[in-house]
Amino acid sequence: MKAALTIGTDILKGGGKSLDAVEAVVRFLEDDAQFNAGRGAVFNAVGGHELDASIMDGKTLACGAVAGVSTTKNPIGLARLVMTDTRHVLLSGPGADQFAKEKKVTLVTQDYFHTHSARKAWQDSRAKHSKGTVGCVALDSQGNLAAATSTGGLSNKQFGRVGDSPIIGAGTYADNATCAVSCTGVGKDYIHRAIANDMAAQMRYAQIPIEEAANEILTQRLKKGTGGIIAVDKDGKITMQFNTGGMARAAADSKGRFDVLWIDEK
Ligand code: ASP
Repeated sequence: MKAALTIGTDILKGGGKSLDAVEAVVRFLEDDAQFNAGRGAVFNAVGGHELDASIMDGKTLACGAVAGVSTTKNPIGLARLVMTDTRHVLLSGPGADQFAKEKKVTLVTQDYFHTHSARKAWQDSRAKHSKGTVGCVALDSQGNLAAATSTGGLSNKQFGRVGDSPIIGAGTYADNATCAVSCTGVGKDYIHRAIANDMAAQMRYAQIPIEEAANEILTQRLKKGTGGIIAVDKDGKITMQFNTGGMARAAADSKGRFDVLWIDEK
């Protein structure tokens, strides 16, 4: 988490773009097998891996996402290419992997994603939903917000299932007028309530501060145990909240804050 935070802060300190920072951080976390994104992703019900990711630029509202990719090493990079190099927002399954091939991004075979612990979690209890989605939000020196989210989804999910993470407005949202948001948790609950968009809507229409908006969602709108939210607003206020047992998270700012908060510290 420290290394990930350093990657993001270094980019922003050097005057880099929030979009580059969130992509680089998520890419790094995808490569770390401890998280359920990229390598180390959970197993689906048929013993494979299907990955979802999305990215959004708060300045232009441009966004890109991939769902159910199975041979792309870094889904977040592919999501960015969907944003920049296609007329579309979301590509899925074989079409998305085919696009990765055309773009010459790094492809891998399914065993690259396998880890012993993810397999064990899947085998031990096929109904257990283990979590560990990764996300990053950032505000850069130009005042531009960006958000990115990447996941292997829920352990033992049905083949073909897509969660909230690649759905703009559910798992990811960014708008310079309000905030950048990345969510983790039970995907369907985040889709039902368009949670990432709801954060921005509360701020936009009712001027609710970011901290309160996240708190309202996690205490009033979502049931206990459903997940968490990280967000930063246009003024640089950061919130990282969850209604589960814990959520590994980290935050830094230009005033010298550099915090890594492990699982259940509040
Ligand atoms: N939100 C993800 C999904 O439903 C899972 C998670 O965040 O743990 O796919």
